[in-house]
Amino acid sequence: MDRSVLTRNILIGMISGILLGSVLHAIGLRDDNLLMVLLVNGLFDVGGQVFVISLKLLVVPLVFVSLVCGASNLGGGASMGRIGFKTVALYLLTTAVAITLALTVARWVEPGTGIDLTTQTTFTPPESPSLKQVVVNIFPSNPIDAMARGNMLQVIVFAILVGIAIAHSGEHGARLKANLEDWNEIIMRLVMMLMYVAPFGVFCLLIALFANMGFTAIQDLLKYFLCVAGVLVLHFALTYGLLIRFLARLNPIDFIRQVAPVMAYAFSTSSSNATLPVTLETVEHRLGVKNEVASFTVPLGATINMDGTAIMQGVATVFIAQAYGIDISLSGYLMVILTATLASIGTAGVPGVGLIMLAMVLQQVGLPVEGIGLIIGVDRLLDMMRTAVNVTGDATVSTIVARSEDAFDEEIYHSPNREMTAS
Ligand code: ASP
Repeated sequence: MDRSVLTRNILIGMISGILLGSVLHAIGLRDDNLLMVLLVNGLFDVGGQVFVISLKLLVVPLVFVSLVCGASNLGGGASMGRIGFKTVALYLLTTAVAITLALTVARWVEPGTGIDLTTQTTFTPPESPSLKQVVVNIFPSNPIDAMARGNMLQVIVFAILVGIAIAHSGEHGARLKANLEDWNEIIMRLVMMLMYVAPFGVFCLLIALFANMGFTAIQDLLKYFLCVAGVLVLHFALTYGLLIRFLARLNPIDFIRQVAPVMAYAFSTSSSNATLPVTLETVEHRLGVKNEVASFTVPLGATINMDGTAIMQGVATVFIAQAYGIDISLSGYLMVILTATLASIGTAGVPGVGLIMLAMVLQQVGLPVEGIGLIIGVDRLLDMMRTAVNVTGDATVSTIVARSEDAFDEEIYHSPNREMTAS
C-alpha cells in the first residue's frame, strides 16, 4: 500500500474514532444500552485491545533482533561509544529543555491559583523506585526473565552485548548474524502487516475510549489542561523544529509529514512501548535512519526519553504548588528539572506511569503528593498527547544522531509515497 494512503487512513481512523466516541458520550447512552454493550464495549473494545496486544507482541523480538544486528554491524568500539554518548546526551538535553519550558510557561500562566482544594480526591502514590534501584535494574541477571517481563533496558543491554560478541566471533558470528538479519526482515514484515489494519485498530481504541470518557474534569481544570497541551505543542514545533532544521539540517515540514502516523499510534495507545515497532519502522523506512543507529536510539528512547511526560510533570509541579499556596525557590526549580529528567529515565513507556513518577518529583521539592489527586481526572487525555510527543522526541534524536554519523538516507526522507517494503 502507498504510504501516504496508509497515513491518511490512520488519521481518518483516529479522527472518526474521537468524533464518534465523543458523540456517543454526549448522547449519554447508559452502559446497559445495546449499542454500548455490543458495539462500543463489545466489538470495538475487543478490536482495540487485540490491536495493542499485537503491537506489544512484536516489541521484544523486534528490539532484540534489530539491536543485535545493529550492534554487530558497529562491532562495539569507538563508533558505538560515540553514538551512545550522543544519543544519551541529546535525550537528557531535550528532556531538560522540555521541563524548563514547562516550568517557565506554567509560572507565567499560573494554572493552579484559585483552585478549590475541597474537591480534591485522595491519591496515595504507589512506591516509586529509588534512583539507585533504577541504575541497578538496567543490568539483567536473566535475559529470558528480562524478555518475559518486557524489561526494555535489560533487553537492550543484553542485545548490545550479544551484538558485540557476534562481531568478534569470526565465522560463527557471521553465520548467526546472517540468520538474525533474516529474522529482522521477517519481524519487520509482521510490523507492516499490522500497519495495514492500523486504521481500524486506532478507530476501535479511540471510539471505545472517548465514548466512555467524561469531559467534566477538563472544564474544572481547563487552565491546567491547556497549559500542558500548549507546552507540548510548543516543544514539538519549536524545540524539535529547530533541532531538525539546525542540527540535522533537514526540512522540519517533511519531518512532521513522515512522523505523523507514528504520532497517531502513540496518541491512540498512550504507550511508547507499544508504539515501538511502528516507531522503529518509521525511523528506518520513512525518515531514512540506518538500522545500526535506529536499532539503538529508538528502543532506548522509548524507554528513557519522555519529553512529553516531563512537560506534564513540570506544569503539574507548578500547579500543585500554586494550588496549595507553596512557594518553590530557584534551587527548588533546579531540583525539579534534575529529578524530572531522571524520572523520565525511570518512567516505563506505558499508560499513566508519568503520574506515578510525578510523586518522586513532588517529594524532592517537598510538595504534597496528594496533590496528584487534583489532576488525575484529566490525565488520560494528556497521557495520549504527551506520548505522541515522547515518540517524536525519539525520532528527532535518532535523525540527528544518524545525520552526524553519516548513517542517513536522504532519499528516503524526501520520498513520501514510497511503497512499503521491508528493507
Ligand atoms: N504513557 C507515556 C508513554 O508511554 C508515559 C507516561 O507519561 O505516563 O510514553
